[in-house]
Amino acid sequence: MSDAMASKKELQMEELVSLCVRRGFIFQSSEIYGGINGFWDYGPLGVELKNNLKSAWWNRVVRQRDDVEGLDSSIVAHPRTWEASGHVAHFTDPMVDCKKCKRRFRADQLPSGSCPASSKGDSDRNCDFTIPRNFNLMLQTQIGASEDAAAAAYLRPETCQSIFTDFRRVKEVARQKIPFGIAQIGKAFRNEINPRNFNFRSREFEQAELEFFVRIEEREEWFAYWLEERLKFHRSLGFKESNLRTRPHAEDELAHYAKAAADVEFLFPFGWQEIEGVHDRGTWDLDRHTEFSGKDLSITDEATKERFVPSVIETSVGIDRTTLALLANGYEDELLANGESRVVMHIAPHLAPYTAAVLPLSKKVAEPAERVVEKLRRNWNVFFDVSGNIGRRYRRQDEIGTPYCLTYDFDSQEDEKITIRDRDTMEQERVPIDSISMVLNDRLSTDLT
Ligand code: ATP
Repeated sequence: MSDAMASKKELQMEELVSLCVRRGFIFQSSEIYGGINGFWDYGPLGVELKNNLKSAWWNRVVRQRDDVEGLDSSIVAHPRTWEASGHVAHFTDPMVDCKKCKRRFRADQLPSGSCPASSKGDSDRNCDFTIPRNFNLMLQTQIGASEDAAAAAYLRPETCQSIFTDFRRVKEVARQKIPFGIAQIGKAFRNEINPRNFNFRSREFEQAELEFFVRIEEREEWFAYWLEERLKFHRSLGFKESNLRTRPHAEDELAHYAKAAADVEFLFPFGWQEIEGVHDRGTWDLDRHTEFSGKDLSITDEATKERFVPSVIETSVGIDRTTLALLANGYEDELLANGESRVVMHIAPHLAPYTAAVLPLSKKVAEPAERVVEKLRRNWNVFFDVSGNIGRRYRRQDEIGTPYCLTYDFDSQEDEKITIRDRDTMEQERVPIDSISMVLNDRLSTDLT
């Protein structure tokens, strides 16, 4: 990365949000109706980035291992699931209303005695709060035509519960033995009292979760293993060391069933915040689902033939939060040696929305350049842009994180070469057109750590 990085000014959230909206990474859902608080849409670039992140997770956690199986369960589960998991009784946040400014807050996030700044900037006046009430964060829905209470169901507040309820079937069909895990990526919903910080805290979001089933006596070593493995994953996404840390939970922060927990945190422009949780959940979930369903979820120890309930190590990462972290981590307003500046998004090449952009120098060479694009598109997402000044076209790609620009010029037809420009160093190299796929493959694999 360039020297300019050292003197880089601190990224403000407004700059990042503005780029995300302007270039179509992430913007408000239902924009034409004035938006809906806590819901976000991912535009053409955002969906590519998010899909690449999900593939990186799935490849590493499921496909590259023999001891993890995948699952894609329904969002709506039997309502008893949420009684067993404790969500109906306990998944609450303390909520207060301010009688003066009529706004609603999470009591545990308030500076004492005053309201936080509103979007209009009227902050720090003394407020008149109601007594905190517990507010359940699950979003309710109705199943079927009946409106009676028996038809009430919930949109899942986390993806892991079906992993527990499907545990026995997945173990059987996949012929797995302990230790092994089940992983899934999917939507979760929480009726957050105060959605905020762009898509960091939203009401609809995606989680990528792994529940790893182990013998109770091996829980500590597996907890340490998964925490380290998850850190390695985050490093492979290109997060700077100075932006990443783990924070073990103090005894009084642990859920009542948890034996140990640690958060992986990222340094956002609004401070250190959790992007992933690693939890030792013990046998709590399988015990509870056994109790509430009446189905035995214990398994037989092959050696001793004794029955036992496996213990669970969970890793749970937010896809939306990590996507935002990737954008914050990558953003640079770089001052160049010639006094000009450029906004460049240093996203790891394997995650970038476009792997390459093919840019014919003029419309006159558009046709042969299109043939290059067609070939590359068999493997990668490739952008094709014919119009405008070449410098401006480079800048538009820098800003959205395209790692390689391929320029087809007037000599290309003669010497059958194309210029490849690197986003980060801006260095250019002339390479034979028929080796472009190999060159991209090489560069992508050296960037993948
Ligand atoms: P927080 O304390 O920030 O509310 P949490 O501890 O409740 O988070 P978990 O239940 O452990 O979060 O969920 C695991 C992951 O799911 C989190 O690390 C986060 O990345 C993601 N996540 C949780 N709630 C939200 C949300 N409202 N919006 C976006 N992502 C979320």
